[in-house]
Amino acid sequence: MAEVVTTKLEVRRAVEAARAAGKSIGFVPTMGALHAGHQTLLQRAAENGFVVLSIFVNPTQFGPSEDFLSYPRNLEADRSLAEQAGAHLIFAPAAEEVYAETHSTWVEEEAMTEGLCGARRPGHFRGVATVCLKFFNIVRPDRAYFGLKDYQQFKVVQRTVRDLDLQLEVIGVATHREADGLAMSSRNAYLSAEARQWALAIPRALQQAREIVERGERSPRTVTDLIRAELVAEGKLKVEYIEIVDAETLELVVPLVGQVLIAVAVYCGDARLIDNVLVECRPEA
Ligand code: AMP
Repeated sequence: MAEVVTTKLEVRRAVEAARAAGKSIGFVPTMGALHAGHQTLLQRAAENGFVVLSIFVNPTQFGPSEDFLSYPRNLEADRSLAEQAGAHLIFAPAAEEVYAETHSTWVEEEAMTEGLCGARRPGHFRGVATVCLKFFNIVRPDRAYFGLKDYQQFKVVQRTVRDLDLQLEVIGVATHREADGLAMSSRNAYLSAEARQWALAIPRALQQAREIVERGERSPRTVTDLIRAELVAEGKLKVEYIEIVDAETLELVVPLVGQVLIAVAVYCGDARLIDNVLVECRPEA
């Protein structure tokens, strides 16, 4: 049985005991509402002897008009999914356990947060980086696992860990998709059956973009135009951004060269959905 704990002290004690037993520590931070995508992170984390999952809807990464209050929460269902996927300890703290009332220290990455979601969600990555650093200090994992669906988040966390000399490895795990291609997300729960169908234009558009780049297209404008046309074809989705950036620096690349990330954010019904693909621009293509 995976134990559920709510205090930092309980986490530290459990992790110390696992370490004393010679186990390495894997850590999977989440906001709960677990799905099969989160389970792939846990399964990967099983390369460690002890796996800690955190479930915390972090208030500091939500903007004032975002979905903090309505974000899906279901600890009992999460517990059973986490257990199936091999978590040993679930850390599900209340906000007061994480943030002192007088909390006043923040972690801000300044280069990789400029574009993509960073440009549209002011303060979001400051909240993410701060809570991740706090959780890394509480759990002290050897390895932490992040989904490539939230690619910018993965890179920002990786950069802050490097820049602040934390002793852990940040590992990216491929996006887990539904059979029809839609990237799994807790926010898919906001989609009506109808909106769920409209959302399929997202993986379709990204797949088409990947194909033309693999066939040699090097103009980001041509690729983003193709994606936009596919996304708006049904008249149901509202595009927030379509960007193609260098996969390492997250800077715009014109013309396309090296490994690039093609990323989109789209409003679909009540949900804001993000998705991306990584594509290698081979010189000979
Ligand atoms: P969240 O609970 O949405 O904050 O996500 C927690 C972690 O799970 C993050 O590292 C996400 O990138 C990752 N994640 C979410 N959805 C997926 C997915 N479909 N495939 C792989 N990882 C995912």
